[in-house]
Amino acid sequence: MAAPPSPATNTIPMLDLRAQFDSIASEIRAAVEEVLTAQQFVLGPQGEALEREIAAACGVRHGIGLASGTEALELGLHACGVKAGGEVIVPAFTFIATGSAVSALGARPVFADVEPATFNLDPDQIESRITPRTRAIVAVHLFGLSADMDPIVAIGEKHGIPVVEDNAQSFGATYRGRKTGSMGRLGCLSFYPSKNLGAYGDAGMIVTNDDTLAARLRSLRNHGQTAQYLSVERGWNSRLDELQAAILRIKLGHMAEWTAARQAHARRYDSLLADLPGITLPRVPPGREHVYYLYTIRVAGRPGGAARPTGGNELRSDIVQQRLKERGVASVVYYPVPLHLQPLYALLGGKPGDFRVSERAAREVLSIPIYPEMTAEQIERVAEELRKAMRP
Ligand SMILES: *Cc1c(COP(=O)(O)O)cnc(C)c1O
Repeated sequence: MAAPPSPATNTIPMLDLRAQFDSIASEIRAAVEEVLTAQQFVLGPQGEALEREIAAACGVRHGIGLASGTEALELGLHACGVKAGGEVIVPAFTFIATGSAVSALGARPVFADVEPATFNLDPDQIESRITPRTRAIVAVHLFGLSADMDPIVAIGEKHGIPVVEDNAQSFGATYRGRKTGSMGRLGCLSFYPSKNLGAYGDAGMIVTNDDTLAARLRSLRNHGQTAQYLSVERGWNSRLDELQAAILRIKLGHMAEWTAARQAHARRYDSLLADLPGITLPRVPPGREHVYYLYTIRVAGRPGGAARPTGGNELRSDIVQQRLKERGVASVVYYPVPLHLQPLYALLGGKPGDFRVSERAAREVLSIPIYPEMTAEQIERVAEELRKAMRP
């Protein structure tokens, strides 16, 4: 069956997977054909090759292919000793999976605020939340930019608490010359279709330099088996299949060029939008390379108020989003409700005002289209429409 057509050319989407597929279709079809010929679908040569290639790309020894990024977090945290009764420090401003992976293990997420400039975990907010029950710290590299890892890793080492990197959004990003995912005890990747390196279904991976942990994770993803039909502990069925691995290997071969295109688009937005009052552009601290999973601006909002009001157009960023939509430009608020104010976590007692930087981010952020296949004209049109949408 044919894929749905690309959105009308006069509408600019957040992401155009069809345009990307068109540019690699013959390579993808050949890779899929190879798996169909081999008729080996789970735990085979494609997955093993992908694990080696991703580990090398991250500068670590091991890659363990898994069914999703969420399960990478779950298995990774479990392997670090997170279980019922334990606590895990998690940024309040992130995608829900960062918190729900902790909850799935019966442990309790303990939220911490983020830095205003990068939206990433604020190293100064961690130590006051460490208790005798803290079993891990999760640093999320949000939107394509690394968290400030040196102080975070130093805190983990000082207290003997493992740092887990949620690298679902920032594969390929760097921090002081090191790749995201390679700095903590382990790094978790998502290959969800919309991620910078996206499969054609769900898939994920853990990368790590720890040989013992890697061996345990290989067993955990396969029912805790250490030999065929011999289980030493309760595990998961969480494996990255051969079709996805073959597709991801083709796409990995294009990552350098795609990342460079995203970065060029971001520089173009930076210059086109530099003088536009009322918005703040993404800022990249020195020593970090941003891979622009998203290009997220802040639209200065009305002060006060905790979560984003639902339904109404009270927020300036909502008004801008609506105006962009009317002019055929997509935009999305990632993320409108911080984790401590999610209904899921009401029982933890979070209140408006607990994490002011996260709450303000939730009110102000707006992500505008960025993807490798965008044309110069499309970038210019988004910038021009944003300029119009910002008029009072
Ligand atoms: C996408 C994402 C995940 C979850 O990955 P899935 O592959 O969708 O399960 C976790 N954390 C963050 C920050 C993400 O963006």
